Formats: sequence, structure tokens, C-alpha cells
Amino acid sequence: MTADRAGAAGLPASILEQTRASPGGSGFYFDFDGTLSRIQVDPATVLPVPGAVQALTRLARLVCAVGIISARPVDFLRPRFEEVPGVVLHGLYGLERWQSGTTTYAPGVEGWEPVVSGLLARARGELPDEILIEDKRLSMALHYRRAPRFGERAIQWSRDQAHRHGLVLEIGPMTVELKPPIDRDKGTVLAQEASVLRCVWYFGDGTPDLAAFRALDSWSADSPDRTAARIAVSHPDTDAALLQEADVILEGPDTVPAVLDTVSTALDHRPGG
Ligand SMILES: [Mg+2]
Repeated sequence: MTADRAGAAGLPASILEQTRASPGGSGFYFDFDGTLSRIQVDPATVLPVPGAVQALTRLARLVCAVGIISARPVDFLRPRFEEVPGVVLHGLYGLERWQSGTTTYAPGVEGWEPVVSGLLARARGELPDEILIEDKRLSMALHYRRAPRFGERAIQWSRDQAHRHGLVLEIGPMTVELKPPIDRDKGTVLAQEASVLRCVWYFGDGTPDLAAFRALDSWSADSPDRTAARIAVSHPDTDAALLQEADVILEGPDTVPAVLDTVSTALDHRPGG
């Protein structure tokens, strides 16, 4: 499918109409890094783009569900988004789920904490300081954006450890991640959330977001009453396949709040709404 290059007012009318017809059956789900935030060299300092939390708050009051589905742990996402009413935070690709002050875990995941902890110590001893090591407690990531020359080394080290310990390797932009071998990705998370909805929007920028796009393909193919909006946020590191498969392409994370406000305004002005 060829996507529309959309500005704030450029959303396809059909998607907006379906959402207006059933705001109580509509859910909006978002990746975080590169989608609701600008990519930065130090992943610890990344914040939502200006206006994102306000736009999500307004939208959350009008629709059934607003959620973040991220590689980040819940403890990172919570201070950034917990003020959004009813928001669901899926951390570590859905290994953790937070809502209304309570975190739950995918079955079996917590047994992997000692393995990850041992690998963090090993990484600190074996890898060059230029590679940033991110401790997510139940998984870990190596970031080499500030030293791309170490990318191959980070990936090979992670591949070796994944093989040795039975972990799963996930390669993202300038990042490689080691995760417990538990069947959760953005697609399985979104499919579960979408099962009670009629209209689902997903916003993403990276390779892991392809699983969410494809879950929406299957979900919407299962019933003519279901509408999916797959939104790719474009920047220099955006996954090319994601751009190919998107219904809408937005020009960078800074444009997302205005698009959400457009949706909220349309919902505010719906007949009888
Ligand atoms: Mg991303």
C-alpha cells in the first residue's frame, strides 16, 4: 500500500470517520523512542516531544484506550506518561504491563532476572566504554549510537550471549537487545489489546513495530467491522519496510501531538458527541 504523506490535517477521511463512529471502541497505541520522542545519543535522558502528554491526555478522555508499547521498562515509562488518564504501559515489549498503579509480568519472566544481571556485569567488563549498557532488569540493551564503529562488536557479543544463555536477540536502530525467550512482541501485545476494540491506531518507527503493523493486518482481516490505522513516523532511522506498509506517514515525532489534536477535535465535534 502506498501511504499518504500526512500533515496534521492529512489523515485519511475513512480512518477518522470510523473513529468518530465508535470512539468507545477505539484504541490508540504508540511506540516511544523515535515515535513520541526524538532519538538521542543518551537513551536515559529521552523525554516525550513537547505537547505529547497533553495531546494523549485529551485523547484518552475521548476514546476507549491509550497505550504505550515500548522496549523500555515500565519504570522508565511511568514518570513520563502516568498522568494520562487510564493509560496502559507495556514495557519490555510486553513482558511488563502497568495500569492504574499496578505492574504485572508475563508468566515466567521474573526467573530471568539473575541471568540478565550476570550478563550486565559481563558486558561492563568486556565491552568498550563507548557502548552504552542499559539495565532493564529483565532484559538489557547495548546502544552504540555515539560510537557506530562498535556496532558489529556489540551485535556479535550479544549474539554469542544469546546463544549461550538461550536469550532472544532483537536488533534495533543503533541498538541490540537481549530478552528472555518468552513469546511477547509488539504484535502479540497489540493483538491482545485490540481483541475488544473496533478501531485501532498504531504509531511506530522501528523494526519491532512491524510486528504491530502485521498484527493489525490479521486483526482487521478477521472482521469487516474492524478498522486499523498503521502510522509510520519518519526520520532518518525509520525502518524502510514500515514506511512501505504504513497507511499514513508522519514527518518526525514532533508532528504527532498535532495529529492527535486533530483526531481529538474531530471527536469533540462528532454529531451527538
Ligand atoms: Mg521506536
